[in-house]
Amino acid sequence: DLVDALLLHLGDENEPDEAEADRPLRLAIVGRPNVGKSTLVNRLLGLERVLTGPEPGLTRDSVRIAWEWEGRRIELVDTAGLRRKAKVEEALEKLSTHATVEALKRAEAVTLVVDATQSFERQDLNIARLILQEGRALIVVVNKWDLITDQQSALADLRHVLDHQLADARGVTVLPLSAETGQGVE
Ligand code: GDP
Repeated sequence: DLVDALLLHLGDENEPDEAEADRPLRLAIVGRPNVGKSTLVNRLLGLERVLTGPEPGLTRDSVRIAWEWEGRRIELVDTAGLRRKAKVEEALEKLSTHATVEALKRAEAVTLVVDATQSFERQDLNIARLILQEGRALIVVVNKWDLITDQQSALADLRHVLDHQLADARGVTVLPLSAETGQGVE
């Protein structure tokens, strides 16, 4: 299936090029178009201005940003903005899938951003499954939380979907926030 096909492309590219302790945490931000990845990255970078990037990534599909949070070096692997180059839906789908796989290869922790105003879709589940199968730490960010009135039931719904459709993700961190207002981001 799709996940297996994607895994074939992942390969084994975790060669330790720097001493473990000195390496920055590689944190990828992935998710479907329009969920707010760009807004979140901008918000994160705005929190602490020790930004030395953005630098061009090793591939054309993602951007690495050297970042630092409370003395901890973090390399953000950002897949946002790619959709703007896509002209048709099919190309967009391919591009974002490819970008996601590329980002995953190079990250230890992955933030899957979903839109609180939309239902958790098959594509979200596939990405989450891929992240977990690859042994990456998964954080599900539920963005646009500012638009949700019944927050308690929205969170319960999402947990229900994760627990029932993605057994591996039971107990995974689900983080509601608003990239736009900054609420919950820190
Ligand atoms: P990307 O395609 O995942 O990078 O998504 P963008 O960052 O470009 O955001 C898509 C749209 O959602 C934009 O119109 C943003 O202003 C909006 N947006 C992003 N984050 C939030 C949020 O926390 N709350 C609300 N209300 N809108 C948001």
